[in-house]
Amino acid sequence: MDHDAALPFVRALRPAASASPAIRRKPAPELDPLLRAALDCARTGLIVLDRDKRVRLLSRPAADLLGVHPEQRSAALPIMHLLAQSPWLDQASLQTLATAFNGAESHEPREVLLSVPRPDGARVVSLDLRRADNEGWVASVHDVTQSRETQDWLLEHAATDPVTGLWNRQHFMLMLRDRLEGGEAAGTAVLLLDLRRFQPVNDTLGTAAGDAVLRLVGTRLGTYLRDGDLVARFASDEFAIMVTDIADRGAVARLSDRLVALISRPFQIEGQTISIGAHVGAACAPADGELPEVLVANAGLALAAARAEARGQIRLFEPKMDARARERRAFESDLRQALARGEFELHYQPQIAVRNHCVSGFEALLRWRSPERGLVPPDTFISTAEDLGLINDIGAWVLREACCEAVNWPKDINIAVNASPLQVESGDFTEIVAQALRVSGLAGHRLEIEITENLLLRDNASVTTTLLALRALGVHLVLDDFGTGYASLSQLARFHFDRIKIDRSFISAPDAAAEHAAIVRAIAALGISLGVPTTAEGVENEAQLALVCENGCTSVQGYYFSKPVPAAAVAALLERFHPDMAEAGCV
Ligand code: C2E
Ligand code: MG
Ligand code: MG
Repeated sequence: MDHDAALPFVRALRPAASASPAIRRKPAPELDPLLRAALDCARTGLIVLDRDKRVRLLSRPAADLLGVHPEQRSAALPIMHLLAQSPWLDQASLQTLATAFNGAESHEPREVLLSVPRPDGARVVSLDLRRADNEGWVASVHDVTQSRETQDWLLEHAATDPVTGLWNRQHFMLMLRDRLEGGEAAGTAVLLLDLRRFQPVNDTLGTAAGDAVLRLVGTRLGTYLRDGDLVARFASDEFAIMVTDIADRGAVARLSDRLVALISRPFQIEGQTISIGAHVGAACAPADGELPEVLVANAGLALAAARAEARGQIRLFEPKMDARARERRAFESDLRQALARGEFELHYQPQIAVRNHCVSGFEALLRWRSPERGLVPPDTFISTAEDLGLINDIGAWVLREACCEAVNWPKDINIAVNASPLQVESGDFTEIVAQALRVSGLAGHRLEIEITENLLLRDNASVTTTLLALRALGVHLVLDDFGTGYASLSQLARFHFDRIKIDRSFISAPDAAAEHAAIVRAIAALGISLGVPTTAEGVENEAQLALVCENGCTSVQGYYFSKPVPAAAVAALLERFHPDMAEAGCV
């Protein structure tokens, strides 16, 4: 706004050096000296105006705060003439004051705030103007600099992230709401940017270096964006950017690409060169959301999709992402209730001894019979159950159910149950296993617990204690999917497994068959030298059976003999593969 054009009367009022001769002066009646002294000592300044808005009294603190010369205090000038002589009040302040005094005819009190740039430091002055019946007006004048500074400080610190100094999430959401509700949704986009490879910086160089990287990322983003755009830090390594006046989705995608490139340039921290990267997910208003929460949530879905890509990628929100997120939420909600609704069931797959082709045990494999989704395989829901904290309850059910089923089988037939690492680490796993054995009456040595080798890597004292306690119950420990994880041979020796299962990828992969045969041979030989039986998983045909037999595996499991079957079909398999039940089934 052009203040000068709006204020011709103020400029006209400002006298060159002294008061205009055209101004009529009326001597003000003398005040009681005590009253004047009291007013001059008070912390609050006072201005008293008569009906013509001429100054009847202007106390010393008021004169000091507004920059009125002491000699002018009793000049009975019109208030705006007097104030126009202040060297500290600029045109904007004078206009504010003129507006307040001109509008003072009403009985409503008015408060104006003035920024007064005094030579000893800028002050914020509040002037509170009220009507004194019909006799005139009174204005109290306060120095509110300190309380304003406190408020500003509080506002700023409640709104910023202490590490980077960028806005925080709350402030970002407020500003986004202002923009979307202020009719400026079109051309507004939210970009969520998430750093790649940031955790190793914290882990290897320390959190101070990590903080320095975050600050540099904030600075880079800040210098790159235009006026009106806003950068905030949302979470540890997640930043949010509100861009305004952006042409279309193509421009949002190009900007996202440029931001990824910007963050991918190396950073120099404490003499080290650090390379990180970024993913960006973006959502554009109003198409992708008219409410700030929706727009940010959709940018989050786009970011999740970008993260799922192998390298630093950008993704713009698409409605199908929302559909997928909804489906995921429904899946999780149904899974939470599946146990209580009795929707889990166990299927059993026989393990056949190579020596005599007789069944030595069954592996219990979990299925979820979902009314909406049909029979859901465990690979689809086990990791979700782990994420949702459901795995311990589900695992306890599996153990009880499997033991109760197996107790009805011939006494030389074992039952193998898979255990998630989270179950073993939970602290009460031994008790849960003991309970399953008690409730079912199954002998401990007939139960095998299958764990994967990655559990051994966790170097957790409680895992060792649990495995030893299980062994004390007589339970057998089986190392599942061997060859796919990262366990070392020393870890294998440390735990004295009762059986090692060779992962089916080494048995069934048609390519690189020679190398895989060598691995099968090596693991079987290892088993022989450690005195531990080995089971080959995933045997589907005669050639694979011949391979594992030749190479020294002691038992096999696979579709060649049987797929996992419901409990009711176990009896038929026992008839086929158990020596006591059918002599013809054994070699
Ligand atoms: P796993 O313990 O390695 O189980 C063997 C998997 O290989 C089973 O898949 C089985 O059906 C499959 N399989 C067996 N023979 C063949 C074959 O000849 N060819 C092919 N292509 N596949 C074969 P499933 O039942 O889908 O289970 C997958 C995984 O889910 C299991 O792998 C196990 O890690 C996990 N799982 C199953 N039940 C449970 C459970 O109760 N608790 C936990 N924590 N995990 C479980
Ligand atoms: Mg298994
Ligand atoms: Mg396995």
